[in-house]
Amino acid sequence: MAWREECGVVAVYGHPEAANLAYLGLYALQHRGQESAGIAASDGRQVRCVRGMGYVADVFSSEQLARLPGALAIGHTRYSTAGESSADNAQPFSVVCNKGHLAVAHNGNLTNGISLRRQLEREGSIFQSTSDTEVVLHLVARSREWDLAAALREALLELEGAFSMVFLAQDRVIVARDPYGFRPMSLAQMELSGGRTCYVFASESCAFDLIGATYLSEIEPGEMVIAGPHGLVRERYAPRRRTAFCVFEHVYFSRPDSIVFGRAVNESRERMGRLLAREHPVEADVVVPVPDSGVAAALGYAAESGIPFRHGLIRNHYVGRTFIEPSQAIRDFGVKLKLNPVRSVLEGKRVVLVDDSIVRGTTCRKIVRMVRQAGAREVHLRISCPPVISPCFYGVDTPTKKELIAANSSIEEIRRFVDADTLGYLSLAGLREAVCDADGDYCYACYTGRYPTELVNFEELIAQPRSRR
Ligand code: AMP
Repeated sequence: MAWREECGVVAVYGHPEAANLAYLGLYALQHRGQESAGIAASDGRQVRCVRGMGYVADVFSSEQLARLPGALAIGHTRYSTAGESSADNAQPFSVVCNKGHLAVAHNGNLTNGISLRRQLEREGSIFQSTSDTEVVLHLVARSREWDLAAALREALLELEGAFSMVFLAQDRVIVARDPYGFRPMSLAQMELSGGRTCYVFASESCAFDLIGATYLSEIEPGEMVIAGPHGLVRERYAPRRRTAFCVFEHVYFSRPDSIVFGRAVNESRERMGRLLAREHPVEADVVVPVPDSGVAAALGYAAESGIPFRHGLIRNHYVGRTFIEPSQAIRDFGVKLKLNPVRSVLEGKRVVLVDDSIVRGTTCRKIVRMVRQAGAREVHLRISCPPVISPCFYGVDTPTKKELIAANSSIEEIRRFVDADTLGYLSLAGLREAVCDADGDYCYACYTGRYPTELVNFEELIAQPRSRR
């Protein structure tokens, strides 16, 4: 089962070029998933869907987009996970059932996806993919409620875990977020000629910027929003409860130009860097980020410490496209493909190297080695979040506990493994302060091992095969 789903989703209601807008939205959300992409659109009568493997720009040609007419569309871009890299798992999923045409796209992970699926299979349901998202369509189809919104309400209440979902029916778009609000989802609008309003939903606000839509608000945790013939209808389908926004969205996953959980990501990251400098000061000549993930935090570290910020590592942005591997094994080939050191910045310097996180430690170790080989005299590694000690069951691709270096080693052991002169992580209190979480609204399970939900089938979840990276 594909249960580690880091994804981007978008939905458009009320625009004559809905599929084109969905395409642009996905283009802006490409960082949330590069394995597959898909768009489903409705012209009011028929729901059509195009899905494929690869980058958004590779999946859709203008001819393909032209095959998606209508004023309503939803889109999805999916992250790669091991063994599950197949077109069958590309979303949106689209079916015709007793509630009409229905398509769905999902960001997050259902912690009871496996048990729901088993139960449905025992009762005769046939699945086309290994993704737990399909479960939702079966639940909707089986509901005795005849009205789609009522059937959805019923289905959503059966789900546990993380989901920000977009649904497309013939004449409406429905968006729902789990009661904890693990994964983000926001709403924007566009005024069209003739006084008409177009509504756009997306995982991150950077998608709105590209298409010129104005950010309005987050979708509330436990909220369902229907954009349809009656305009925009917002309702709670689940009672209000403590929220658990994924802090890793602010640490790493979201784009820094996005507003996520109502807060600017760049502000959080710079603040993480500033607090990191206060918690782990060091005498050094340059602050160098690991691009792109460490840039905003490194700027914060440099501003707070007064040590100059320099680009000492340059990233090749085209990695992942076609390249020819050399037949002879080259040491650290993978990292060299992506990053190249700037010798003139690093040679003879005491370097503060800033990255957002250490997961297994293997990439970090190669980068530290690269910086040393470029002539750095000292390398002080600074990480803008606490040690990752526990896997995520809510949609972030983290390895099992066994592979998480901080779950099995002390900070001194990690420092020795990555071969840094010193190593400092941002504290949990620092991270909370950086995202302005005075009320405990965020999930920190990957740093604490304390999960906000009961983990259904915990044993099965942790036994899942590891994903890529
Ligand atoms: P590692 O060698 O496993 O410690 O890799 C750490 C690097 O992976 C850091 O530079 C992070 O920016 C990046 N990273 C952290 N979490 C993820 C994730 N869920 N998916 C992809 N990359 C990640």
